[in-house]
Amino acid sequence: MEEKGNISIHTENIFPIIKKFLYSDHEIFLRELVSNAVDATQKIKRLSSVGEYKGDLGELRVKVAVDKDARTITISDNGIGMTADEIKKYINQIAFSGASEFVERYKEVTDTNQIIGQFGLGFYSAFMVADRVDIVTKSYKEGSEPARWTCDGSTEFEITDAERAERGTDVILHVSQDSDEFLEESRIQTILNKYCKFLPVEVEFKEEVINNPNPIWTKQPSDLKDEDYKEFYKELYPFSEPPLFWIHLNVDYPFNLTGILYFPKIKNEFEMQRNKIQLYSRQVFITDEVKDVVPEFLMLLHGIIDSPDIPLNVSRSFLQADSSVKKINTYITKKVADKLNDIFKKDRATFESSWEDINVFVKYGMLSDDKFYEKAKDFVLLQNTEDKFYTIEEYKAFVQANQTDKNEQQVLLYTTDAEKQHAFVEAAKSRSYDVLKLDSVIDSHFIGLLEQKLEKTSIKRVDSDTIDKLIEKDELKESVLNDEEKEKLKKVYEQAINNQNMHVEVAPLSSDDAPVVITMPEFMRRMKDMNRTGGGGMMFMGNMPDTYNVTVNANHKLNQRVLSTKDDNKESIARQAFDLALLAQNMLSGSALTAFVKRSFELIQKE
Ligand code: ADP
Repeated sequence: MEEKGNISIHTENIFPIIKKFLYSDHEIFLRELVSNAVDATQKIKRLSSVGEYKGDLGELRVKVAVDKDARTITISDNGIGMTADEIKKYINQIAFSGASEFVERYKEVTDTNQIIGQFGLGFYSAFMVADRVDIVTKSYKEGSEPARWTCDGSTEFEITDAERAERGTDVILHVSQDSDEFLEESRIQTILNKYCKFLPVEVEFKEEVINNPNPIWTKQPSDLKDEDYKEFYKELYPFSEPPLFWIHLNVDYPFNLTGILYFPKIKNEFEMQRNKIQLYSRQVFITDEVKDVVPEFLMLLHGIIDSPDIPLNVSRSFLQADSSVKKINTYITKKVADKLNDIFKKDRATFESSWEDINVFVKYGMLSDDKFYEKAKDFVLLQNTEDKFYTIEEYKAFVQANQTDKNEQQVLLYTTDAEKQHAFVEAAKSRSYDVLKLDSVIDSHFIGLLEQKLEKTSIKRVDSDTIDKLIEKDELKESVLNDEEKEKLKKVYEQAINNQNMHVEVAPLSSDDAPVVITMPEFMRRMKDMNRTGGGGMMFMGNMPDTYNVTVNANHKLNQRVLSTKDDNKESIARQAFDLALLAQNMLSGSALTAFVKRSFELIQKE
């Protein structure tokens, strides 16, 4: 038998176009060919199980081999094979029409990255790395003759008789000069590891099986133990710490999705996420760029998602609007929230001890997804400076009596750094106020969210005002000084400080509060923070100098002494008191600090 022919397609020169399109992603040819071999193997298994194939199945395996001298890569299977007629039908027509359809569809696309790696070009992708491809195949059908197909990527092909004793197919790529890299075994090994690690049929390379054909996500959760999940995590991310907990996804209606999502142990929220969620379609790795498939906040999770229902061959904008992708998003978000809620309810101790690792994730989720907020508001935790944890509801009840101001507004206090803001935390505690620790970057956004969602609640940093003003109660403090004395005291301090960005005010605090307190108003600091993190519209704030309120305690003995001491002594005591307040705020440095130290020595030398 010998037949030459022309492959009938309308685009004569698809080959160069495809080559250009997929320039940076040539490696997927191997995924495509190995997947085809796996499909053919699974088909024979199925035919056998329904009794349509009566022969011996043998050991079902796909083999990949590289022959550097002969410049070939061979992908062999003992699947269903093809007759000469089937080659004409499946390879000449289906494979090539698939390729030309691809070109037609994507001719207009300018950002080729959008489609690279997301579109299975199928058999034709072999021509990205080979200038000639042979297929030697024998069908499982009784009495069928083996056949050889040869093609150089043009539209011409040749079918001849061939030698092959057993059922199955060899696809032999004659690697082109510019694709030498694929003749390196190490390169092939890497590609197999990336795309074929969990293919459902054993794949052999260099006499070793490179894949795990039964990954745990394909099994029933009831058949699995914790250890299985942990081991699988290690298999996916060999260098990572064990995960905290996980979710086994398993749906078949209204879309098909399996997978396992892990909550990782991460300490540093800015750490580049090297472990990404991997997207599979029927156990074939597709991509770890899952941005459009899962909600952004879920990308902090690790693991795998396997779904044949995620359209892989369409552009990004389409993907975002795709209804099954949307449903998948909603489903995963709900599952994740339910899982967290479950752990919170059943094992609060574990939940609390994991909080450091998961709080960024939970807060990020609450900020970016309203449905997630609704579920998470019942288990999101607030941690105070005593390291006790409360839900929002518990915390509000806890501070209700003591931290409600005269306007019936509940005031929650927090610190971003209990060490640096120690004096203020202590001042709050002296009033039996509770102080929360909200110290990560996401917390500033989280605080904003809580204020927006919680009624009659404001949240203030402990050092944003004097303790009496942080939570204003009805009781009026009497001032020991009269108005004239207060005015005089103010002048002394203004002259001693001599800085327009320090707004001096004399107020009657309690006599055991500090003589001078420096604060930055909450709104001012938030705007500055927002400006720093790039939040919208406040650009001018960035150029404004930091301004502070300096509250001079009219009821403190020291300030009475400032008024009664000799005139030339007044300013130096005031300056000293001010510097001590700066020191309490970690704001004293440079020449001001040097001057302070010098002045302090002089003062203690005085008789
Ligand atoms: P797809 O796999 O998406 O159908 P391909 O271009 O990869 O498209 O393959 C076209 C067809 O060729 C397949 O559907 C299958 O019928 C046949 N084929 C490809 N490779 C093999 C193989 N190793 N064994 C048997 N049939 C194959």
